[in-house]
Amino acid sequence: MSKIHVLPNHIINQIAAGEVVERPASILKELLENSVDANATEIKISVEDGGIKSIKIVDNGTGMSPEDARTAFLPHSTSKLKNIEDLNSLFTLGFRGEALASISSVSKIELVTKQEGEISGYQVKMDAGEVVEESESGAVEGTSINVQEIFFNTPARKKFLKTVPTELRHIIKTFTDTVIAHPEIRFSLDNNEKKLYDLPATKDLKERLRNLIGEDFTNNSFEIVYDGIVKITGLVGLPKIATSRKNTQIIIVNDRPISNTTISAGVKDAFHSAIANNQYPQFVLNIKLDPSKVDVNVHPRKQEVRFSNQQEIFKAVRNAVKAGLQRALQEDTDDKLAGVPYISKPSAFSPSFEKKESDGVRDSFSYESKRDKTSVQDSLSFTKNLFDAIPEKTLPWENEDFEAKESLFAEKQTYPVYQLMNAYLITSNGTAIQIIDQHAAAERVTYEKLMKSVSAKKVEMQSLLIPFELELNAQELLILAENLEYLSDFGIQVEEFGMNSFVVRQIPVELKDSDLNAFVKELIQDLTQKEEDEQNQYEKLKENILTTMACHSSVRVGDHMSQQEIEQLVADLKSCDLPYSCPHGRPIIFEVPISELDKKFKRT
Ligand code: ADP
Ligand code: MG
Repeated sequence: MSKIHVLPNHIINQIAAGEVVERPASILKELLENSVDANATEIKISVEDGGIKSIKIVDNGTGMSPEDARTAFLPHSTSKLKNIEDLNSLFTLGFRGEALASISSVSKIELVTKQEGEISGYQVKMDAGEVVEESESGAVEGTSINVQEIFFNTPARKKFLKTVPTELRHIIKTFTDTVIAHPEIRFSLDNNEKKLYDLPATKDLKERLRNLIGEDFTNNSFEIVYDGIVKITGLVGLPKIATSRKNTQIIIVNDRPISNTTISAGVKDAFHSAIANNQYPQFVLNIKLDPSKVDVNVHPRKQEVRFSNQQEIFKAVRNAVKAGLQRALQEDTDDKLAGVPYISKPSAFSPSFEKKESDGVRDSFSYESKRDKTSVQDSLSFTKNLFDAIPEKTLPWENEDFEAKESLFAEKQTYPVYQLMNAYLITSNGTAIQIIDQHAAAERVTYEKLMKSVSAKKVEMQSLLIPFELELNAQELLILAENLEYLSDFGIQVEEFGMNSFVVRQIPVELKDSDLNAFVKELIQDLTQKEEDEQNQYEKLKENILTTMACHSSVRVGDHMSQQEIEQLVADLKSCDLPYSCPHGRPIIFEVPISELDKKFKRT
């Protein structure tokens, strides 16, 4: 008796489906690719329960003839490829001819399609890969596919589906990637009949991004255009919106959203020291190259590609982004310097400085110049040398007029700041050496900033490119649900999203790098106290919430800070109302008076 037998087709398809159909979002990806390949200009997507219950796509593309509609579900049936060489000149997203066969083998499908010029359309119903019904049908031009009960006949796989919110998050990620790759197509997405997105067609990637993710990204990013062996266009976020997460790195190669470490590394490399090591730039890059130089057939779900010359791509990306970044920072510099004439013309500075000094009004002048310097400096890491033109001044205590003021920080002089052991900042105010706890200082600065902006109802917010889904227990969910409006006063926009699930859509800019789940859980703790404390200590609650926010948005011990960051932090701390202690009440600054040092070194 022979032990080996050839598997029947339906089992082959189910096995293939294991590769292609990982979860509802992978079905969406394949169906979207088909609609795009069919030249649709409008694509409507409706899912139920994050795609677990159903995924429906309606396009206005070319449609299929009745014969093609039947063949389309057979394994390895495609209109896009005839021989293997075609892969080298491929301009369609699909090519393997296995998506519809795989999807239909693990679900129930209803397809309605009509080709241009045909009088009627054609409808076919499939159940686990078998045709159960087919007929002529009234239809508009285009194709509508409704996929239901995913994995109904493969219970083992169904078990691996995650919760509705998680699957929905993947659906949104797939949707986001696809709509960014195709701004020229109008897209909409509903979940359980609730409209999540409706994006008009546009020629302009920036406009699509603005509609999709809001202005924070588009306003704080620069465009890049590169035309060499590869063509690169796109938007890259300025250093100030770099984040600790990589989820806003979108790469499109020949109209295909993919992930690719070479390209991500190229962008990161271009930023070099403009952002900290643990920060990642946000970007959307659109790369076009000769299809023969990229293998798109290396991943079962086509999520990756392989370049024939990786090094070439890396360099092109790095150079393109570097050039764009330098231009952007230069423009920023020019803008800021426009209002500070003596910095752009250093030679004019010295005479007036001397004159002022001899007039005996040096203090006010040098203070002003320092202020301007700080405000200019905060966005300039590339142009530090500009400030070298500012002459060194005598040390305050060498100046006879010097009066030991009760001032926390040097009023007349900028002292260098150093970071020690990624925990403390060392500087001086001219009369003492100051040791500053970087986390406590940052907490204080953020706390006061937030306090002011919340009180003025002017919190600067940032939309998340991809809404952040919270993982909370039932009790936390309840408390959160009751306080959504209250939290929005603090610039935290949380929305209900599907059943028993919440996503964070907007946060104050200060919180952009924080661990949002931990942060919201702590906020909920604060809010729980509100319930217990009926006497309503609104101010107290507000302070607690702001303290939590400040704590989560601030650099921590162990974080390396750039020179620019530490200088900014000290400057910001200086302008705080209560610079001596953090919102939790811990001290921020420890001072060793110079006189103390003089004594120790036996100078007096
Ligand atoms: P592939 O996309 O790799 O060719 P699929 O299984 O995804 O394989 O689709 C098989 C064929 O069905 C496609 O080649 C195409 O001709 C046809 N088809 C699928 N979806 C659509 C659609 N929305 N509009 C028009 N034709 C479609
Ligand atoms: Mg396809």
